[in-house]
Amino acid sequence: MTTSKKIRPAVFLDRDGTLIEERGYPSRADQVALVRGAAAAVRRLRALGFGCVVVTNQSGVGRGLITLEQMHAVNAEMLRQFQEAGAPLDGLYYCTAAPLSDDKTVIEHSDRKPGPGMLLRAAKEMHLDLARSWTIGDSVSDVLAGRNAGCRESLLVGSAHPLPHGRGSDALVFDDLSAAVDYIASLAIAA
Ligand SMILES: [Mg+2]
Repeated sequence: MTTSKKIRPAVFLDRDGTLIEERGYPSRADQVALVRGAAAAVRRLRALGFGCVVVTNQSGVGRGLITLEQMHAVNAEMLRQFQEAGAPLDGLYYCTAAPLSDDKTVIEHSDRKPGPGMLLRAAKEMHLDLARSWTIGDSVSDVLAGRNAGCRESLLVGSAHPLPHGRGSDALVFDDLSAAVDYIASLAIAA
């Protein structure tokens, strides 16, 4: 019997400010609120054939602000809410490293975005085609992680983090996840 698996594209999704409302360093399940339209957006991506993979920097753990258990509780509640909404997420990768500087464009740790480590590992473990994959997030570090991993394109959502000039500042910007997925869908349908 063959064990070869079909390679498929994915959308790598940031957690805080993209899939769930930004809450600083959430430590409890009751702080988890899905971004409006996020579940429908994930359902749409799945229908288009994309794997939906969460890639999240969780420096709150590395900074000693929250425990690993608290981070897992928040992740589990998010996954539960998406599942309940008929929009299961296919994978979740996290990096607990704390940053050494404020520059979100510099790779300090291969797994911490903008490093590509989590995306590369997901691609290997989940048989994902990076060149046909996208990244969506609300930080320049999300944009650059996607580019550093060789993704097709990285989309920025929200207006809470206006980008300074420099690497990643040329990313396409959308109001929210739903609008970014509209864009991906328009290209996927045209292809
Ligand atoms: Mg974020």
